Amino acid sequence: MNLPEISTAPVSDASETTPEEQTALAETTAAPETTAPPESAPPEATAAPGYTIEALSAKLYATDTLNVREFPTTEAKIVGQLNVGDEAEAVGLTSHGWYQIRYDGGVFFAKADYLSAEKPAEPEEQLTVPENYYFASEDDYFFVVNKEKPLPEDYSIETSFVQGSYELEIVAAQHCREMIEAAARDGIDLKVLSAYRTVNYQKKLFERNVNSRMEDDGMTYEEAYADVSINIAPPGGSEHNAGLAVDIIDRNHWDTYEAFEDTPEFAWLSENATKFGFILRYPKGKEDITGYIYEPWHYRYVGVKYASDVMNSGLCLEEYIG
Ligand SMILES: [Zn+2]
Repeated sequence: MNLPEISTAPVSDASETTPEEQTALAETTAAPETTAPPESAPPEATAAPGYTIEALSAKLYATDTLNVREFPTTEAKIVGQLNVGDEAEAVGLTSHGWYQIRYDGGVFFAKADYLSAEKPAEPEEQLTVPENYYFASEDDYFFVVNKEKPLPEDYSIETSFVQGSYELEIVAAQHCREMIEAAARDGIDLKVLSAYRTVNYQKKLFERNVNSRMEDDGMTYEEAYADVSINIAPPGGSEHNAGLAVDIIDRNHWDTYEAFEDTPEFAWLSENATKFGFILRYPKGKEDITGYIYEPWHYRYVGVKYASDVMNSGLCLEEYIG
């Protein structure tokens, strides 16, 4: 089944189209497969319709509230209405952009601009945060946590899933899910590699790395601690412990790698992450200030309000917040 291209331009059903314009439209359109008016079309329409109808069979969905009319013109009588997400069985498409649909036991017309083969997405669920939650407002997410500024003692969050078994703080998680879905709509498959880590997990991760450097590389504890600190934050000093950071790469890899910056996934994130409140947290050239190597995979939720300002400033979060 070949579905016709559906224009997404917001053309109002209410726009006046004169019969002359309809004829002109019909003339400039390529000859359709069938030109016979449908049996159900009234005699007035078959006399000199000024358009042709291509027969088809398609299940379509209304993308907006739209009128169902007796004839394919905005001057025709309204016989009913479709609401967003309503299903419509199309049996024809006119040469001037109206679907012929089955409706209420008859065959009528609706403007093609508001009908799509793709079912519109359900509206986003409204996020409910617990009462007296640690984060009272969006501004509260705008703070620095690093090796020198560990999380406060009373830090307490709720978490929810973002992808697979990976979780983030609930508000960051919702934004992250929306970001992953938006990327998918653009054909970009983002893969979460790490997200929320408990302080206890961070402790084990850190110790394991210190031990392996002491055992395998013969470093002293101090040397090993300093070396591990370059890549891994001490317990409580990681944004991952805050539940506000997510490591993202592409589907073809299983670990973080610097050449991720050359992928379409990274390009998409560079363009879009701030719209969802995430910033590239450890940029190139800021290693001395952040205390981290350049990490094209590490994104920190700071809130939609601030994200793009921080990114546009060219400063890292430590510099921006001062
Ligand atoms: Zn990370």
